Amino acid sequence: MGAKLLKEIEEEVTALLSDLIRINTTNPPGNETQAAKYLAETLEKEGFKCEVLESAPGRGNVITRLKGTGEKPSLLLLSHLDVVAANPKEWSVDPFSGLVKDGFVWGRGAMDMKSMTAMEVMVMKLLKRNNVKLKGDVILAATADEEKGGEYGAGWLVSNCPEKVMAEYVINEGGGQAIPVDEKNVFTIQTAEKGILWFKVKAKGRPGHGSVPGAADNAILRMNKVVEKLGNYRAEMTLTLTVTQFLNVMAEENELAKQALALLLQNPAVGDQILDMLAKRDKAMAEEIRAMLRMTIAPTIIHGGIKENIIPSDCEAIFDCRILPGQSTTEALNRIKELLQEADLEKLDFEIIQANEPSESPMETPLYGLMVETLKNFEPNCAVAPILLTGGTDSRFFRKKGAACYGFQPALSDLPYGEILKMVHGIDERISTQNLVFGTSVLYTVVEKFMT
Ligand SMILES: [Zn+2]
Repeated sequence: MGAKLLKEIEEEVTALLSDLIRINTTNPPGNETQAAKYLAETLEKEGFKCEVLESAPGRGNVITRLKGTGEKPSLLLLSHLDVVAANPKEWSVDPFSGLVKDGFVWGRGAMDMKSMTAMEVMVMKLLKRNNVKLKGDVILAATADEEKGGEYGAGWLVSNCPEKVMAEYVINEGGGQAIPVDEKNVFTIQTAEKGILWFKVKAKGRPGHGSVPGAADNAILRMNKVVEKLGNYRAEMTLTLTVTQFLNVMAEENELAKQALALLLQNPAVGDQILDMLAKRDKAMAEEIRAMLRMTIAPTIIHGGIKENIIPSDCEAIFDCRILPGQSTTEALNRIKELLQEADLEKLDFEIIQANEPSESPMETPLYGLMVETLKNFEPNCAVAPILLTGGTDSRFFRKKGAACYGFQPALSDLPYGEILKMVHGIDERISTQNLVFGTSVLYTVVEKFMT
């Protein structure tokens, strides 16, 4: 099978990305319609029929489809058009200029994830230009609102017009980036993501004068115990399929990781000791792995009190809890209530703010196998590992409906890995034109092979 870099499309895919970055789709408010229309225009010039569907004024989603014969399953190339805010004062270039400088395209969305949108649009164009005889439908959907939960984007499309977007397989963001391990590149493919449980706890008490604390029942003190208990809670470690496979691949590449994994598999209870040791060398990596191994709870907002000399009867705090595939948000909330009961904490009310179940796709599918094979053709010395994302993506909407979804935005590590992590939602976000070519080439090869 070929592993040809499509150098001839460098200029075209670069211009596509620059144009997309110049259309400011900061969410909120989003304003994705302009970007959706831009994509529809560029695709229609080449004979595609596109639909721009608005879930609300300004919240556009663009869809197009290449029909196949139906002999093979369908594939959706998914991306989101919205981006998070960027403060121009912090950046070294205008974050909405789409500037091409020193071999990189700069701007908000260069990584997350307008580059992937540009690559996917390029793949669609190439399939048509090359007159590829597809055996299944290839759908493209570039959607609104991912950064605020996807209710106006992917979530809306799946509930309101599933027939337009549902497919057996989905390729989306969340993986594909190579991690340099020793001398080797380890590419990731996102096969799983944690679930989200955002909840509020209200602590009640009895008000009183600040000068006689003993006569009152201070809600802040009660909440203090809640925060301590939940914030420091270390749930038991659980090895999900994805994380076990991820650690197995890492262990093959690195002797230290191998020893650590062997210990972990024997006795998950020693996991924290091992990770504490790893944290001394690589704090970011150790904490990422720790979060991949258990449910986590982080207090993120707290409010209480109204005046200097009044002991408050109310205090409320918000917690961001993330759960593993195999766990449920209902179970998690019950566990949380249990913990607080064990600590003898009463006079508490709970309110769920948002609950998204975790999701995981199998590694034993032809598409997953083909992604691994293709990466190895392009980079013979590489390894490939599935990963569990501790955050969330739109893939969850499609996994819930039974699709196999993979986060796969293939990229070589041409910047230090720590730098790449910092750029996403951070400052000076950029992608090399070399990676635009590499990503498009790998993606095109996978899609062409899979669909013919
Ligand atoms: Zn994203």
